Amino acid sequence: MTPPRNELVLATNNPGKLKEYRQILGEFDVHVHSPSDLGLSLTASEDGETFIENARIKALALGPDTGYRVIGDDSGLEVDALGGQPGVHSHRFGYKRTDAARTDHLLTLMSESPDSSRAARFRCAITVVYEGEVTFETERACEGRIGAAPRGCHGFGYDPVFVPEGHTQTFGESGDEIKNRISHRALASGDLLEYLRALIE
Ligand code: IMP
Repeated sequence: MTPPRNELVLATNNPGKLKEYRQILGEFDVHVHSPSDLGLSLTASEDGETFIENARIKALALGPDTGYRVIGDDSGLEVDALGGQPGVHSHRFGYKRTDAARTDHLLTLMSESPDSSRAARFRCAITVVYEGEVTFETERACEGRIGAAPRGCHGFGYDPVFVPEGHTQTFGESGDEIKNRISHRALASGDLLEYLRALIE
């Protein structure tokens, strides 16, 4: 039986991403299961060279038999002054083990970068897999810049140092409501919702 289009499973072990997808898609009555909700665990080697490749790797890693459409998300930060780093290596940047240590590492590498050259963007790729086949893909970006020091405690990852374009507060300061409206994940989720709406149940 075809699964309902408003129930998905998100191939992630990242509680920050799960929370954001639940908030963003929940507004549109789309329910997001975690792998553990279904008694599954996600093990995927994210060795792709692009966000899309890694999103696909994660979505396919849950196997063809979840009974739901599976979303893979791969996302990360690109900083112009660092030649696009950390990019697809955002989660393991500098081999640091925590968000705070990775953020410190980033700020140290950028300590010589003046205000005028701190442009950056978050990217989010989403892949949908159903019965082991990729059925939809999108990638979106949220432009901004890297602040001088961490500010705010909302969100996860590099949020305390990312100031989105047209704003003065970091995502760490502004919180869920603003982030879930303008972020890379919100934009990619908009594409996902259009795809889901077009499905025939
Ligand atoms: P992955 O997609 O699980 O490989 O990891 C993405 C990494 O990029 C996260 O661990 C964060 O460090 C960073 N990242 C991705 N999206 C966001 C975001 O929305 N805010 C802050 N950091 C993010």
